[in-house]
Amino acid sequence: MTPRPAPPEVDRAAAGRAAIAARRARAAVKHSIASREKTALAAAQVGWAEPASAEAGLRVTELLTSVPTLGPTRVSRVMAELGISDKKRVGGLGHRQRIRLRDYLLRRQGAEPSRLLVLAGPTAVGKGTVSTYIRENHPDVMLSVSATTRAPRPGEIDGVHYYFVSDEEFDRQIADGELLEWAVVHNSYRYGTPRPPIDEALAAGKRVMLEIDIQGARLVRAAMPEALLVFLLPPTWDELVRRLVGRGTEQPEEQQRRLTTAGVELAAQDEFDAKVVNTEVGQAAREVVELMGAPAGASASR
Ligand code: 5GP
Repeated sequence: MTPRPAPPEVDRAAAGRAAIAARRARAAVKHSIASREKTALAAAQVGWAEPASAEAGLRVTELLTSVPTLGPTRVSRVMAELGISDKKRVGGLGHRQRIRLRDYLLRRQGAEPSRLLVLAGPTAVGKGTVSTYIRENHPDVMLSVSATTRAPRPGEIDGVHYYFVSDEEFDRQIADGELLEWAVVHNSYRYGTPRPPIDEALAAGKRVMLEIDIQGARLVRAAMPEALLVFLLPPTWDELVRRLVGRGTEQPEEQQRRLTTAGVELAAQDEFDAKVVNTEVGQAAREVVELMGAPAGASASR
């Protein structure tokens, strides 16, 4: 066997410099948490959204020991309670571990883990079917009704499926700050989430779900970092293609455009707190509802 040649000197030097830069960047993150410039939760969320970031490379123990009021003994205990091993880095946490860490950090900040869940996913993955199932089988979950400038399809009811509004009315809602987020979807119509009903429902301890597109999910994260973002996945890519084409409501060029969009959308899945595979609608809906936790008042042991 021929020995592997040593990497050229220049590569090793470059790798060494990159490692030093990464260490410095991680130290800067720890410093910003220790000086209360940034919360540990905000840092973790950067790590989950950007796998190549310094935050993602930070060990969870380092993240937690940077919090001014957490000593090493407490951190070891918390890590054990959260079921996270000492070696784990923020970016390498599984989805359930992320949710447990996030809920723990939220509680430390004095906030109850949010009961606001955002369900997003690629075109034709079945978000609409899952949310209809939840509407019909879990009446205690409030489904947000979006405003849209598109026209109703047959069978759609104003105020149930959407609030169908004019462009002028949509402009007014934006200007009056009534929308939690809004976006142009599929390069055509505008869709937005009315904020007041959500605030009221959350204040009453209800669980709230938004079924929106991926850009919308990112905007909700920016506006309400405590929201839980769930990505709905197809069982396979082929199945997604079948569902997209099988819908038969669009022309071939439109289908191709939606497939391209779906590919780009699938790439966003790692920004989300949890993933649910939509193999069977009832099962997927149950998993989504479980991720919301118990309704307020029904969970003495939380
Ligand atoms: P459709 O016109 O087929 O009902 O919905 C098209 C897309 O708009 C879906 O991907 C749906 O998730 C998204 N959507 C629906 N309501 C909203 C909303 O309030 N905000 C955003 N950003 N997207 C939405």
